[in-house]
Amino acid sequence: MKHTRNSFLKLPKADVHNHFHLGGSQKKLLEKYPNATISFPKKYDGLVGMIDFIYGNLNKIMVTKEDVITFMEISIESSIDDNISLLEASVDTNLARFFDGSIDSVITEVKRIKEKYKTKIDFRPDIGINKDLPLDKVYEYGNAFIESGIFNGIDIYGKEDNQNLKPFQELFETARKHNIKTKAHIGEFSDYKTIEETIELLNPDELQHGINAVQSEKTMDLILERNIRLNTSPQSNIALRAVRNLKEHPVRKLFDKGINVTVNTDDLILFDATVSDELHNLYKENIFSWEELKTIRMNAF
Ligand SMILES: [Zn+2]
Repeated sequence: MKHTRNSFLKLPKADVHNHFHLGGSQKKLLEKYPNATISFPKKYDGLVGMIDFIYGNLNKIMVTKEDVITFMEISIESSIDDNISLLEASVDTNLARFFDGSIDSVITEVKRIKEKYKTKIDFRPDIGINKDLPLDKVYEYGNAFIESGIFNGIDIYGKEDNQNLKPFQELFETARKHNIKTKAHIGEFSDYKTIEETIELLNPDELQHGINAVQSEKTMDLILERNIRLNTSPQSNIALRAVRNLKEHPVRKLFDKGINVTVNTDDLILFDATVSDELHNLYKENIFSWEELKTIRMNAF
């Protein structure tokens, strides 16, 4: 039987690697900002190219706290449109800069949004920490988010090479004590050694991407041993030129190794692929069967 994109759209899905305010569809964004003249590229020149695009385009229209709230609501509505029933999306702590530096105002908004959409989607916010944020802010904002009691996870991201993770160990420890699950972005651009280092230093429950674990059997064994889930996002990797095409994407090898993998949007606004699109693409290109994609889809719950 041949399945279509619609077959995947109809199924309940989870998106567990999503940067909340960047999770809206391009269509919804342009409807909200009809005067915006953004042309979204198909590919970006790595993380630097992506950040340049965000600063040069998205941050030109996201200027007030009301805009940030609009971006967040577009995001959750786009997830609902894709039949996402569980959304784990990270709220970047540094969004406090749009709220006059008040982290409590960010928490209040996240709480309000969670409440507003609760009959439509199980939204479990993650604490989003960029490694470039000054450490005093990391702890001030991070601890405020942890203590609010509304966050289910913590996710750390940013530059992958030459990272110094030691300063974040204490924050991860505090999160664990509060039963908050831990995620770390690594191994999209960086090699298997940085993945091992991240696992040793932060002991995360999940890796965001982590695809370069495929370079080393030993790294994959470590991931298996610790039962770490890999929340991949193939179209993001392709758009950022970390992977050439879907056929060459490591997700198949990671799956064959027995690693718990999921597929997710990462940033729908930038990469323009919903979870349904990701699943359908993997099916269409004969990378996974319908049954295997069911396993992958269920892994995210
Ligand atoms: Zn990400």
